[in-house]
Amino acid sequence: MKKSRLFTPGPTPVPEEVLLELARPVGYHRSAEAKAILGEVVAGLQYVLQTQQPVYVLTSSGTGAMEAAVTNLVAAGEKVILGTAGRWGERWRGILRAYGAEVVAVEAAPGEAVTPERLAEALEQHSDAVAVFTTLCETSTGVGHDIAAFGQLLRHRRAVLVVDGISGIGAMECRMDAWGIDVLVTGSQKALMMPPGLAYIAVSPKGWQKIETTPVRNFYFDLRRYRKALADGPDTPFTPANTLIRAQRLALERLRREGIEQVWCRHERLARACRAAVQALGLELFARRPASALTVIRVPASLDGSAVLKKLEKDFGFKLADGQDTLKGKIWRLSHMGYVDPFDVLGAIAALELVLAQSGLSVALGAGVAAFQRAYAAE
Ligand SMILES: *Cc1c(COP(=O)(O)O)cnc(C)c1O
Repeated sequence: MKKSRLFTPGPTPVPEEVLLELARPVGYHRSAEAKAILGEVVAGLQYVLQTQQPVYVLTSSGTGAMEAAVTNLVAAGEKVILGTAGRWGERWRGILRAYGAEVVAVEAAPGEAVTPERLAEALEQHSDAVAVFTTLCETSTGVGHDIAAFGQLLRHRRAVLVVDGISGIGAMECRMDAWGIDVLVTGSQKALMMPPGLAYIAVSPKGWQKIETTPVRNFYFDLRRYRKALADGPDTPFTPANTLIRAQRLALERLRREGIEQVWCRHERLARACRAAVQALGLELFARRPASALTVIRVPASLDGSAVLKKLEKDFGFKLADGQDTLKGKIWRLSHMGYVDPFDVLGAIAALELVLAQSGLSVALGAGVAAFQRAYAAE
């Protein structure tokens, strides 16, 4: 007997009551009830994003909201600064290029973060840049960025700050209004305890000023349409994935009950314990400035990283994520965001220990488990 256990940094496990909600009959999306539910979801997202601004609900994966940010904010030929530390920073670059932006990139080496100092330099050199695009949690390497410091740099500048919070929101501290984030994007399937299918985007007044002076170049993702529909409704301009919206309401209620600060603390505590376990096993952490949504482990040179992950899944049902692109086989990514408790993570550590021992690595069975428990108890 074997159970399936999902530890990928998206999608992530979904609470039972949310799954049950998804099984209920489909309703009409323009009904008074649907509008009331959308209103509640928007309020819940405002709380999670820590913003007074409306949060627009898009039926797409997270990348759709990233594309919305680019097309609404940036005109062809305009210069933007990209703070990138991996694959998801590169996703910004791909979208920006597709829409003809001139991209000045501040790149961090794999496992490193873009520092506020380097961003400040780029802003000095490129005072004509209209926006800075970056990532809260770089899910490809496990690095978290100092978004509060980035926000400080932009507070008295013309450029707007655009943050991909797709895997960070709901896992690590992020305060849209207090930190001066102008456009914040996230998605349903990371720390928001939902299946894939919804993306969320909020815009500050400074962000709206930029949008209003930028030619409209899109239809489905034209944020003016979302703003009007939400203000008039609450409603969406096109048929939304209303089944998912109804389920998201329940997941957001969970976060509100727990309290967002407590949610951030819980993830931080899991992340610290997980890092202690990894180090106790003699393994190396990949991220220099680790995010608390996931733990990324460097594969020891003697092992085939992809083979270990296959064995973990085949023998014990634990699904962790491999590295992507050039990091394939070189890192393991263990997510602990969303609907995950300490005993879920302990299970993953115990299984990893076993598979490592079976793969010929010298590990003391239980060393990671004990380190996790000690670190967890110490907090
Ligand atoms: C998962 C992820 C994305 C991609 O989102 P999709 O929902 O697959 O479009 C983008 N950015 C980050 C940081 C992510 O973790």
